[in-house]
Amino acid sequence: TDATAGLTVWAEIDLDAFEDNVRTLRARAPHSQLMAVVKADGYGHGLLPVARAAVRAGADWLGVAQPTEAFALRDAGVTTRILTWLSVPGTDFAGAVRRDIDVSASAPWTLDAIAGAARSEGRSARVHLKVDTGLGRGGAFGTDWPTLVEHARRLESEGAISVVGIWTHFAMADAPEHPTVLAQQDTFFEAVATAERAGVRPEVRHLANSAATLVHPAAHADLVRPGIAMYGLSPVPEVADDFGLRPVMTLRARLALVKRWPAGRGISYGHVYAPEVDTVVGLVPAGYADGVPRSATNVAPVQVGARRTTIAGRVCMDQFVVDLGPDSAAAAGDVVTLFGKPSEGPTAQDWADATETISYEIVTRIGARVPRLWS
Ligand code: PLP
Repeated sequence: TDATAGLTVWAEIDLDAFEDNVRTLRARAPHSQLMAVVKADGYGHGLLPVARAAVRAGADWLGVAQPTEAFALRDAGVTTRILTWLSVPGTDFAGAVRRDIDVSASAPWTLDAIAGAARSEGRSARVHLKVDTGLGRGGAFGTDWPTLVEHARRLESEGAISVVGIWTHFAMADAPEHPTVLAQQDTFFEAVATAERAGVRPEVRHLANSAATLVHPAAHADLVRPGIAMYGLSPVPEVADDFGLRPVMTLRARLALVKRWPAGRGISYGHVYAPEVDTVVGLVPAGYADGVPRSATNVAPVQVGARRTTIAGRVCMDQFVVDLGPDSAAAAGDVVTLFGKPSEGPTAQDWADATETISYEIVTRIGARVPRLWS
């Protein structure tokens, strides 16, 4: 039986490819632990299936942004170490401590909230101190770093927390050779030395995302944190090397209607496309509610059988049209590949290039109503 029978639009998730990619990344950083970054519903690929596949392929840790993502993993029975790195005043740190989830702190108030939760749970919280080495986002910056370290040391000596990690994130790891990469790396190792001199000695120091895992071995440290590359998409598309990664998500749909359409007549809202010759058009039942960017209008490629064509006219909420050419023999029900493996049609990178974004956004934005078919 065909699991896609009757589906309008769906995303096929190739977990074998995913596991291969995890192993490829492991081999690039053989002396480091690996934290599989599975935030944002596994970059749109499905939190639990992807997390479990990562563990099967040897991931030592799972990394997520939101505490609720970490809770979902634990509550589904995942026992691997988990780090969650976003919090706000009011975050359920007690829930994190109770579930044995590592948390991150960039400021003293976060440490106080974590320590308070740990005391109320009657156990010590595992904390990763985040240093801002130049990304200008999370992390303690400049002289705030020794202050954060001193605060952590005090709470550690009281037994409320245990500092198990020191970490940072790159601004431009995707630009090989950019001087900020080395500068951030140096600042990071200085920050680690500052902490160690103050008596804070973490188990893991970590800074490498996918790009750094693939192209900056000096940044591997104790643990690497790849995301996008596990999903088979290159973090450095301008480098002519796919690193042996295999795309994991293939987004497909089925033609809902095929009809002849005359030259010069506008198609879809705003009539921003009109065929030059009498042609055949196909209706694809996927739109921006499914994550097809509206900016894909008239530019994103799709594959229908042997024909590579382009979205014709505006992408609507639930559908768009493709120009199949005058001689098309396509019929309702034919499968359309929006993006996926290069051997089968356009890639998520092609979609990113066409819509002036990055492959991360293409896969992450796929809508909740699009069924994921894992195999
Ligand atoms: N580490 C942190 C803190 C992140 O926010 C992310 C994702 O943006 C990653 C690692 C993984 O990055 P990438 O998907 O570029 O490998």
